Amino acid sequence: MSKKYYILGVVAVPAVILCCVFFGGDMITSDELDREILNSPTQNETPEKPATEILMLVNATHKIPDDFTPTLTTEGVIYNVIMSDDVEEMRQAAMEEGIYLVFNDAYRNQEQQQWLYDTLGSRLAQKPGYSEHETGLAIDFSFNQLSSYDQTQMWNWLKNNSYKYGFILRYPAGKESITGIDYEAWHYRYVGKDAAKIIYENDWVLEEYLEKNQAAYAPDSFGSSG
Ligand SMILES: [Zn+2]
Repeated sequence: MSKKYYILGVVAVPAVILCCVFFGGDMITSDELDREILNSPTQNETPEKPATEILMLVNATHKIPDDFTPTLTTEGVIYNVIMSDDVEEMRQAAMEEGIYLVFNDAYRNQEQQQWLYDTLGSRLAQKPGYSEHETGLAIDFSFNQLSSYDQTQMWNWLKNNSYKYGFILRYPAGKESITGIDYEAWHYRYVGKDAAKIIYENDWVLEEYLEKNQAAYAPDSFGSSG
């Protein structure tokens, strides 16, 4: 009897190991892997969302403070961890409606921004220190060049729904005199759900929201609001 079990063990254990070696790759579907990568930065922590950070005004006249360093996701698309949960929630919601959000560019470090500025010039790229991408709070969505995916459908979805997840179309058409930037259908900025809803409902841009919320403009008042 014991010999029988011994033989079973000798055959079964290596068989299981072999299976894991050869078929291990199939045990996680690409969808699960994708989810794992997107979820990984937030699995064990709920990042705080300080207003000083999510409502930080960055434009041609408002430089990112020199001592500001965003905490970034470490895998997949690199962006500010503050918005991880909401990005994932938005991605899922869009997917349920058949819209696949394609992330083209999010966080850029100062060297990358410098390169872009040198390459594209001041009309198409912001000076290093003056780009929202350096905060990790901006996402450029793009169409997938490898498919016939309809990018207009994605823009429309984002325009009408992204505020529910804390995002605003940062450079809308008709607001160029305030933002100083031409209409960009692809550039979205995270400001948190509360501000995004107000900005969306009033058809404002971030500059207008901050101007009308004097309290939010004053850094000292940020702390108590949580
Ligand atoms: Zn952008």
